[in-house]
Amino acid sequence: MREPGGVAQPADQVAPLLEVEGLTVDFPLGDGMIRSRRQHLRAVDDLTFTIERGETFALVGESGSGKSTTGRALLQLEEPTHGSVRFDGTDLTDLGRRDMRRNRRRMQMIFQDPSASLNGRMPIRDIVGEPMAVHHLAKGQHREQRVRELLELVGLRAEMADRYPHEFSGGQLQRVGIARALAVEPEFIVADEPISALDVSIQAQVVNLLEDLQGRLGLTYLFIAHDLAVVRHLSDRVAVMYLGRIVEIGDCQQIYEAPKHPYTRALLSAVPVPDPQVEATREPIILHGDMPSPVDPPSGCRFRTRCWKADQRCADETPEMVEQVPGQWAACHYPEPATAAGTEHVMVSKDGR
Ligand code: ADP
Ligand code: MG
Repeated sequence: MREPGGVAQPADQVAPLLEVEGLTVDFPLGDGMIRSRRQHLRAVDDLTFTIERGETFALVGESGSGKSTTGRALLQLEEPTHGSVRFDGTDLTDLGRRDMRRNRRRMQMIFQDPSASLNGRMPIRDIVGEPMAVHHLAKGQHREQRVRELLELVGLRAEMADRYPHEFSGGQLQRVGIARALAVEPEFIVADEPISALDVSIQAQVVNLLEDLQGRLGLTYLFIAHDLAVVRHLSDRVAVMYLGRIVEIGDCQQIYEAPKHPYTRALLSAVPVPDPQVEATREPIILHGDMPSPVDPPSGCRFRTRCWKADQRCADETPEMVEQVPGQWAACHYPEPATAAGTEHVMVSKDGR
């Protein structure tokens, strides 16, 4: 059987590392006196996808679309309201505290802004060594040695262990954040916009480091980004999120060459094309207005208020995820025809199809 975002597999092949089904996360709003009357904000709405062992799965969408909440819910840092997260065959949503702790070691997070997420009053030695202490992994000299190895693994010098975060550049600090995540030898890493806060000139170095580490350590990544440019060269599959939902999912190449959802196409139109001639003839699709609030999302298709194709059907019927071509799923009543993105002339008028 095929699932959205899944890969058809004979039954005897290994199961995906992560299987997410119907994942939903609500946040209560304000503090209404009567619990049942409290309003909720649905940050993540009914996500189903799988992540294979060793792959880089990218989650892309505008700010506020629910990417970080999804990443946090996978690591059980946010309690899902509905749905399940299976990690290596175990349902994390009904694990006891002890088992959860053991599993948590296997899944780590790299944050967007290392200067905010790392404790500025701790020397690097303690920042990188702390997770080992928490999980009782290494002590004393052994831990000290591990810290030095980890710093070298991420391209820093071992003697930097004595220094404090303010002595580091943004890129170096992100390397420290990566070393800290690796300290407990995880198998799965959620990298939440790990290069967005960094200088453009060093973004590629950090991406290269993450790729290099993946090859050396056999890591599986969920890589979160707000635009498609970043993930193009490093992801195997891409899921595009809009207002809490996945609107399209597929192999990286499919998504870039022939997006099916108008929102994906709009996101792609902002990604520069290497060929200057093609680039000169392209017109970006400008989406009007902001993403609506998840407190009061549009009926039917959530993207319809900004979509140039939307009609009454889009307001009345919520589009289901449909496999448009093998391996590529999109939720749209009027999916894009197969064209090579980047070579087309994008002409968009308000009522144009
Ligand atoms: P993204 O990472 O894609 O920018 P987030 O997952 O951070 O999106 O947020 C999704 C939605 O959930 C946003 O509307 C955001 O304001 C809301 N949200 C996130 N965290 C909380 C929280 N702890 N309490 C209430 N609302 C939240
Ligand atoms: Mg975020």
